[in-house]
Amino acid sequence: MTVDVTVVGAGISGLACARAASAGGSTVQVVDRGRRVGGRLATRTLWGRPVDHGAAYFVVDEASDFSAVVSGWRERGLARPWTDTFAVIDADGALTHKRGPMRWAAPRGLRSLAEDLAEGLDVRLKTTVEKVEPYRVDGREAGDVVLAMPGPQAGRLLDAVPGAELEWEPVIAVALRWDARQWPGDLRGAFVDGHPDVSFIADDGDRRGDGAPVLVVHTTAQRARRHLDEPDGVIPDVVAATRALLGTDAEPDAAFAHRWTFARPAETRDAPFFRSPGLSVCGDAWGTRSAVRTAWESGHALGKALAAS
Ligand SMILES: Cc1cc2nc3c(=O)[nH]c(=O)nc-3n(C[C@H](O)[C@H](O)[C@H](O)COP(=O)(O)OP(=O)(O)OC[C@H]3O[C@@H](n4cnc5c(N)ncnc54)[C@H](O)[C@@H]3O)c2cc1C
Repeated sequence: MTVDVTVVGAGISGLACARAASAGGSTVQVVDRGRRVGGRLATRTLWGRPVDHGAAYFVVDEASDFSAVVSGWRERGLARPWTDTFAVIDADGALTHKRGPMRWAAPRGLRSLAEDLAEGLDVRLKTTVEKVEPYRVDGREAGDVVLAMPGPQAGRLLDAVPGAELEWEPVIAVALRWDARQWPGDLRGAFVDGHPDVSFIADDGDRRGDGAPVLVVHTTAQRARRHLDEPDGVIPDVVAATRALLGTDAEPDAAFAHRWTFARPAETRDAPFFRSPGLSVCGDAWGTRSAVRTAWESGHALGKALAAS
């Protein structure tokens, strides 16, 4: 059976697109090369509990349709407001606190939110797409084709796809576990300014709500570029930097590194999505700044437009 829309990519943008197109009456199929949905909304079971090793949190704009989705997640215990205050650690190690927008977290991990969006959709996992053309995926009729993934990944499937020209930055996420918490209870998360190796530290036990002594540390793009072939190689320097930044003597007793070659676009396109006959593109590079909410809004807007046509 031929569907109206085939979405390639089951990250939050692809799932939001599929839901909106489906709600508008289109028949939709979603395909993803991964074993699970979520893409960069990534949660992995480490040391007996879920750890968010992709996106650290998300922010909601009350004026956006995304806020109704988030309210539903909150009512069902899938998402919760985490904190509006993070630490800022400067190059000299001085720690201050800074308020910002409310950051949301998911008790079962951010991937659980993507899994919720995928409920009821026709999602084919472990399906790597090699080539797309308007109305065709890997040579088969596919209806309107949507590419919902980082531009460089889309560029492998089709020459000159809009957005593929943008530069993307890598991150290596390093999860660290101690036998007991070694940092102040109000740390929550810390932006690290001017450090060559570390850009952000998240208290995973705090955001998950179980208090586990686990941090997830994001490297700078500059440091990640040196380790794309062997992400584990960054662990010793990340451990040393984290201990120095937080002033802890104790060594973590376990570590795990994950490479994100395309973590975020260095710049974005000033449009909610790209659309042409038979081929469209959405994702976090389509909007004012790369973020979970941008990805959802891009996919949602495209899905509505496809269903309306
Ligand atoms: C380390 C890190 C930290 C981040 N921190 C934050 C944060 O704190 N707050 C925030 O708002 N955002 C954060 N982000 C960004 C956020 O994760 C993204 O903006 C959002 O998840 C992007 O969703 P997406 O659907 O556009 O793309 P993705 O999640 O990348 O989804 C793309 C999907 O396409 C699939 N795919 C790719 N190629 C193929 C193919 N050939 N065939 C089939 N499937 C394919 C992939 O498997 C993937 O599932 C972070 C990202 C990273 C990596």
